[in-house]
Amino acid sequence: MIFYGKQDVNETDIRAVEEVLRSDFLTQGPAIERFERCVADYCGAKYAVAVTNATSALHIACLAAGLGKGDVLWTSPITFVASANCARYCGADVDFVDIDDKTYNMSVTALEEKLRQAEAAGRLPKVVVPVHLAGQSCDMKRIHELATAYGFMVLEDASHAVGAEYLGGKVGSCAFSDMAVFSFHPVKIITTGEGGMVLTNSKELYEKLTLYRSHGITRDPAFMTQESDGPWYYQQINLGFNFRMTDIQAALGCSQMQRLDEFVARRRYLAARYDKLLERLPLVTPHVMSDSVPSWHIYIVRVDFSRVKRTKQEIFEKMRERGVTLNLHYIPVHTQPYYEQLGHRSEECPEAMKYYEEAMTLPLYYDLTDEEQNMIVDKLREVL
Ligand SMILES: *Cc1c(COP(=O)(O)O)cnc(C)c1O
Repeated sequence: MIFYGKQDVNETDIRAVEEVLRSDFLTQGPAIERFERCVADYCGAKYAVAVTNATSALHIACLAAGLGKGDVLWTSPITFVASANCARYCGADVDFVDIDDKTYNMSVTALEEKLRQAEAAGRLPKVVVPVHLAGQSCDMKRIHELATAYGFMVLEDASHAVGAEYLGGKVGSCAFSDMAVFSFHPVKIITTGEGGMVLTNSKELYEKLTLYRSHGITRDPAFMTQESDGPWYYQQINLGFNFRMTDIQAALGCSQMQRLDEFVARRRYLAARYDKLLERLPLVTPHVMSDSVPSWHIYIVRVDFSRVKRTKQEIFEKMRERGVTLNLHYIPVHTQPYYEQLGHRSEECPEAMKYYEEAMTLPLYYDLTDEEQNMIVDKLREVL
């Protein structure tokens, strides 16, 4: 059975983890800082904060942005639920901006229109979370311009986009945002088992992020309300969490970072190969903007049902019978029962609903061979 994604861990990765297991620190040791420095330098960002996963990264990023009760966060409906849930953890409301019909990322035209209406209604968002679907950057330059005009913060959910490029820079540089979040879940581009990171160029946000990661506790006298009692002294100055990554995970992350360019190159090769192999099938292959070089976390196609007799359920079942598990990224978040209970309706985002009718994700990962890819395409031709 071929699944849509899977990690690649080699002997070098395993040795890096083993080294930590034989060292003095399993957590809060030197590997964390090494990993943070490595990712920040790769992306060209000033600061990085490693945490337990991208969900907790989004959570503390929202807290650092000052998001709270009475505030609103906007994101795309075509994302994993975590991009929206982070606002709810902070007591804030969520609203959804419909997607672009070509890239399936948040539509900047829809965003602009929604901002105009929200301004008139006096309910502008505090934070906007663009999600770089499949590892293709959103139109960050224009989102940044709108952020300046309307005064909201930009938090990139770059969970799919480790290694992606936009306007000649790396995604994660935060050139057009306040913060960016990566996920290191095994299906993503590089892995730490579970893991996530927030990147930023703001010292102030960085300091808040490190506090929220670890109980709101500081040992820095500059942040304390009184003189230190002695060498043992620390203060808790806000309500943080234990969202720390272990050194075992960070060591794996450092090792995986050495392989990132190789991972992404293979994914780009396979994506280009899919483009060619699928040319004559009744499918719409991914559209890549000229300013973008995606990292290809996933490869999404849309079925042209005017030319296909089968239903989507049939396509999924027949492919499964033939040893290939398809996937769907994602069920529009605003249609989830939890968000419906909060008053959201499917009509809010018509493009997202149309996308959901037609989209499917084909297997794509570093390890996938050309022969396996040929087989997937052959089966798909058969089934369609
Ligand atoms: C995977 C993913 C997340 C959550 O990542 P975890 O590390 O599993 O918490 C958030 N947003 C998007 C877009 C993702 O794909």
